[in-house]
Amino acid sequence: MDMVLNSSKSEELIDITDQIRKAAKDSQVKNGIMVLYVPHTTAAITINENKDGNVRQDILNSLDRIIPKQGNYGHKGGNAYAHIKSSVIGQSLSLIIENGDLKLGKWQNIYFCEFDGPRKRNLYVTIK
Ligand code: ZN
Repeated sequence: MDMVLNSSKSEELIDITDQIRKAAKDSQVKNGIMVLYVPHTTAAITINENKDGNVRQDILNSLDRIIPKQGNYGHKGGNAYAHIKSSVIGQSLSLIIENGDLKLGKWQNIYFCEFDGPRKRNLYVTIK
């Protein structure tokens, strides 16, 4: 299954937990594995804190410090930083479905990471 997302900023962490939980429930799979895969080279996916929204901004700020927009990059697309952030965070997650529901930690939500938006993005979802 493909999901479509529209990012609205150049860089942001978009909370997709509700859509993913719904996809898990709608699949009718009682106990299984869900793989989320981002088919892009300037986006990523991760799991992190769901209570304090500052954590998302802290992640973006910290990535900016480690991987600045301007640098001695060979890539001529002007978005080398976005490619590097994408690889640092990663393109996929494996999640647990138990008793027909997504099994996450109490403080965990799922975030689609946009590093070169705004754009229309895809997310591949497989459930077995
Ligand atoms: Zn590029």
